[in-house]
Amino acid sequence: MENYLAELNDAQRAPVLQKDGPMIVIAGAGSGKTRVLTYRIAYLMSKGVDPFNILSLTFTNKAAREMKHRISSIVGSSEAKNLWMGTFHSIFAKILRMEADKLGYPSNFTIYDTQDSQSVLRAIIKEMGLDKDVYKYKQVYSRISSFKNSLITVKAYFQNGELQEADAMSKKPRMGEIYKEYVERCFKAGAMDFDDLLLKTNELLNRFPDVLQKYQNRFRYILVDEYQDTNHSQYLIVRALSDKFQNICVVGDDAQSIYAFRGANINNILNFQRDYDNVEMYRLEQNYRSTKNIVQAANSVIDKNKTKLEKVVWTANDDGPKIVVNRLINDGEEGRFVASSIFENKMEHQMKNGDFAILYRTNAQSRAMEDALRKKDIPYRIYGGLSFYQRKEIKDVLSYLRLIVNPKDEEALKRVINFPARGIGATTMDKLTLAANHYKRSIFEVIENIEKIDLKINKGTQTKLKNFTNMIKSFQIMASNKNAFEVAEAVAKKTGLVQELKKDGTPEGIARIENVEELLNGIQDFVDGQQELADADGSLGEFLEDVALMTDLDQETPDEDRVALMTIHLAKGLEFPYVYIVGLEEDLFPSGMSMNTRSELEEERRLFYVALTRAEKQAYLTYVQSRFRWGKLIDAEPSRFIEEIDDEYLDYMVPQDDYKYKPLIDRDIFGEVDKSKLRQNKPKKGTPPPAHKPTEDELRKLRRLRPADASTPTKADIPVQLEAGQLVEHMRFGKGKVLSIEGVGQDKKAEIDFETGGMKKLLLRFAKLKIL
Ligand code: ATP
Ligand code: MG
Repeated sequence: MENYLAELNDAQRAPVLQKDGPMIVIAGAGSGKTRVLTYRIAYLMSKGVDPFNILSLTFTNKAAREMKHRISSIVGSSEAKNLWMGTFHSIFAKILRMEADKLGYPSNFTIYDTQDSQSVLRAIIKEMGLDKDVYKYKQVYSRISSFKNSLITVKAYFQNGELQEADAMSKKPRMGEIYKEYVERCFKAGAMDFDDLLLKTNELLNRFPDVLQKYQNRFRYILVDEYQDTNHSQYLIVRALSDKFQNICVVGDDAQSIYAFRGANINNILNFQRDYDNVEMYRLEQNYRSTKNIVQAANSVIDKNKTKLEKVVWTANDDGPKIVVNRLINDGEEGRFVASSIFENKMEHQMKNGDFAILYRTNAQSRAMEDALRKKDIPYRIYGGLSFYQRKEIKDVLSYLRLIVNPKDEEALKRVINFPARGIGATTMDKLTLAANHYKRSIFEVIENIEKIDLKINKGTQTKLKNFTNMIKSFQIMASNKNAFEVAEAVAKKTGLVQELKKDGTPEGIARIENVEELLNGIQDFVDGQQELADADGSLGEFLEDVALMTDLDQETPDEDRVALMTIHLAKGLEFPYVYIVGLEEDLFPSGMSMNTRSELEEERRLFYVALTRAEKQAYLTYVQSRFRWGKLIDAEPSRFIEEIDDEYLDYMVPQDDYKYKPLIDRDIFGEVDKSKLRQNKPKKGTPPPAHKPTEDELRKLRRLRPADASTPTKADIPVQLEAGQLVEHMRFGKGKVLSIEGVGQDKKAEIDFETGGMKKLLLRFAKLKIL
């Protein structure tokens, strides 16, 4: 047997070794589903399957890169490079570019991000004279998105009385018109939005049997990770492509389906056996990721869901510490607790920042965490929220670049035609927009022919407009023979963008210039990377495609050691030694907007299951007593999910008056915790936390909390006299020399150069050093 196959257990090896036919692997978190996909691809290649014939669809491009990396180490990188691997969106954008002409699109079509789409919709709603409080553009956007993901085209919408009635009932009878106008505008701008990438792929495969056949023959082996979260549109693509050879392998976990709100359909898993003949079904049961406490706690919660496939998840890993539950006064204190705890764990267990994740239900919760981490000098990185590529100055540069590649791109044009200011005002833009809509041409084309149309725009402004299009055209000539970096550098300089930012001397202004520089560095890296690939040349078009499809997880620079902050939705498939799940309060998690039906609540519970199962060594759950919501301070109740975890896996903490946290030991003689404690002693707003002096009995149990080899340090353990230059001995790292001391009191640490262990920073409170 090949060596790598020994890195799988028997249950995992079976689906890897089944070369042909449809198969589904259903298994709980951390049981090796992603590993099975990875090793299966390596195995297929070792059996002579051409990597060009393997299509593998992942949840993020980062996951695809990691899989490719692992496969490269097994089969060699030159072969692995040829695998088709990535998210649905990135793979099918690539195919759509190759086939764009069939659908009437230019192959250099722009991909509109959410902001672009919403801005188009805002304009339409305004132009139609609709009430923007009824036709909320974000709601309209998600409604249109759901049409597209269910393959409801404009035509289908107008044939569907039920849908129209539903919109009329929700006071939006003109939804269909907006949809129609939106689709037309995107088409005219040579742009596809995210949902189009799937919708148009379906259209392509349905309308052109020869194209379908071509890709069926190309993708003889198809693999899909996180299958439980595919939406209808994705499902149909997979079905169509796999129809001929039926070599399809999907892996998923119904208990981790968390995208129903975006159209993911759990039935895709349930119906798999119906859709294909002779499906082999595999189950994995052993979890390799987490401690027993975490696995069993997660099981005890998900057990409360009624709609689920019965599954077993167990682990041979250690029990590990119990899950810590902590109640804090407010989000500020919650942040401080998390930051201190990260700091302590780093010191006590010699962990890196990257070993910690803070997970929350909504992006807004990140702020309190950020403040606390910054105060403690702990580097962090926020995923989601406003990503680098959505910052204003970056979008401005990118809009110029988009316009160079696709001058029809209306959103890009509107953004930069008068930025930096060129004396082209809103009235001029309104006239141009009207003309463009009237002639069904782009604004760019209207400007190019401006002398032929009587728009009542004065000569001076006409010249300004012409200067703008001429500048873009000169960049186009440049882009035809220079790489993305050279063009972008010229754009930053010649458009006056950077000068504009320099005028603003504030720290924010300087940060913006740095961001533009960072973007240019990124483009240079991209160009260097592309030049190593056989079928790429580092052109501007390639770069824009890469950026448009980048998800937040893809932007990670691997050499940066930072604590990860993200929503639970983004954390799917990832793992971290230490995980903090914050804001576990009713109405926040479970979300107040998702408690109306059982199925919504069950989705929230699955989300909690996903969060908890990201942790390898230890999980922390926090909730606060009062929190600002919608501008008001409200009393918060602990989340039902805390109460749903079996007690034996939890340790409750209460704050002490010195802002340290000690376990609340209120177990009765049978070891049961009094759950009412979760709610009790809620202080009135603004009053300090209740001082809770531990009894002798509590103190004894408190000490038991620490791992056996590191009982609560006593004063005698801390070498107070310690100073730089001294020689010391550590239980694990051996002999070393103290280089420096920093911090005070409980936070005091020493940097020590160990003879064998190298440089370490140790928290003296835990280090137990012997002075030699
Ligand atoms: P999720 O449901 O969260 O996506 P998963 O089922 O995809 O999880 P993996 O991410 O593939 O699980 O595996 C979880 C962890 O266990 C990974 O760190 C993986 O390397 C490790 N692992 C999986 N199988 C084995 C094995 N047979 N031996 C050792 N480690 C394993
Ligand atoms: Mg996985």
